Amino acid sequence: MTKKYEVGINSAWCKGCSLCIGVCPKNVLELSERVKAVPARVSDCVGCRQCENICPDLAITIKEVE
Ligand code: SF4
Ligand code: SF4
Repeated sequence: MTKKYEVGINSAWCKGCSLCIGVCPKNVLELSERVKAVPARVSDCVGCRQCENICPDLAITIKEVE
């Protein structure tokens, strides 16, 4: 069975730099109208955590879900 992930983004910490969007191999993230990263296609997330690692503001938390 394919694992599923929760992509948590603390929008208070996100400054809209887009680094996470550029690094995601599955194109899960995009910028909202308020210039904050949002997990627009969370079901495509493969849990690689590259977004979590690259975020300079530690705004992203990836969690595996049952
Ligand atoms: S890398 Fe972090 S600060 Fe930059 S857009 Fe993504 S969540 Fe926001
Ligand atoms: S964990 Fe990987 S696949 Fe999931 S949103 Fe982050 S960069 Fe994209």
